[in-house]
Amino acid sequence: MRFNRKMSKVYFSEDLDKILETIDYSKLGKNVAIKVHFGEKGCTTYLDPEIAKKVYEKIISLGKKAALVDCNVLYKGSRTNTTDHIKTAKEHGFGFAPIDILDGELGEEFIEVNGCKIGAGIKKYDSMIVLTHFKGHGETGYGGAFKNIGMGLGSRAGKLQMHGDLKLSVIKEKCIGCGVCKAHCNYGAIEIINGKAEINQEKCVGCSMCVAVCEQRAVNLPWAEVASEKVQKRIIDYAESVLRLVPNQIFISVLKNITPECDCWDIVQKPVMADIGFLYSEDIVSIDKASLYLANKKSEGNFDKINSVNKNIQVDYAYEKKLGEKEYELIELK
Ligand code: SF4
Ligand code: SF4
Repeated sequence: MRFNRKMSKVYFSEDLDKILETIDYSKLGKNVAIKVHFGEKGCTTYLDPEIAKKVYEKIISLGKKAALVDCNVLYKGSRTNTTDHIKTAKEHGFGFAPIDILDGELGEEFIEVNGCKIGAGIKKYDSMIVLTHFKGHGETGYGGAFKNIGMGLGSRAGKLQMHGDLKLSVIKEKCIGCGVCKAHCNYGAIEIINGKAEINQEKCVGCSMCVAVCEQRAVNLPWAEVASEKVQKRIIDYAESVLRLVPNQIFISVLKNITPECDCWDIVQKPVMADIGFLYSEDIVSIDKASLYLANKKSEGNFDKINSVNKNIQVDYAYEKKLGEKEYELIELK
């Protein structure tokens, strides 16, 4: 898992077949977890299941076993428990492969590595393909490979631990008391008092769903860099623990349907730029850095501005922890 300091390779193509032809599969074992995000019900821009299907079929053609894996989410939605999660995954077109939700029916099963609570089912697998839909993310700046395995493979308790420091509040002057935020808050943390929304800090878990649904932009994200930085660094700590548990990993990132927010939102989002293509690397730091570079190149720097979060934190911190390289060679496959 730990890299000696050298330049890594990141392969780019608009054609997934070219990527699949180039991957060195020798580091994969016999039982491969393909880490995906199935998309919350209502989201329309999640990872295209046809992409996951091609990856799965390639692994199976090599005589290996494989399953699509994820953990349950923190908030109440269509992927809160394993039964609903699998149902949503199938409705979203992922029924072609075994689906394995790794943290038990209610997200209660985890193993602890360096204080990180990782979905216990990961122990069954000897290797992993981290298949990531790259996009923006209001809390962490962007969602790439680190977020896919860091936040994604945390159990519910682990996700709560990572999100712990957010303190949202309502800007009274902007709030019209419509109650939409209250209807979408799955933690009963919002009340309408004297015609204005109020957030109960004791109940709020910082999922920021209220931010996404408020048309008045009345919910204030105190994205004090400190709070965001803490969450991002915790994600890297979790990703490190996952890399320890399953050291044989291949990273494929899909730079298509790049939206401002995560696929956890049950809302339709418009992509913020034209599709770019696919990246493959054995270096998680390099693939996230290359994803950011290509998204900014394609959008003429606008990806960096889709939120105010510093998008270098994850890569810099992971580099400090020697999880990979920031220097990489970008090799285009034609
Ligand atoms: S959705 Fe926005 S405007 Fe409506 S009650 Fe909530 S904070 Fe106020
Ligand atoms: S962030 Fe908003 S929606 Fe989420 S728990 Fe807190 S008040 Fe509820």
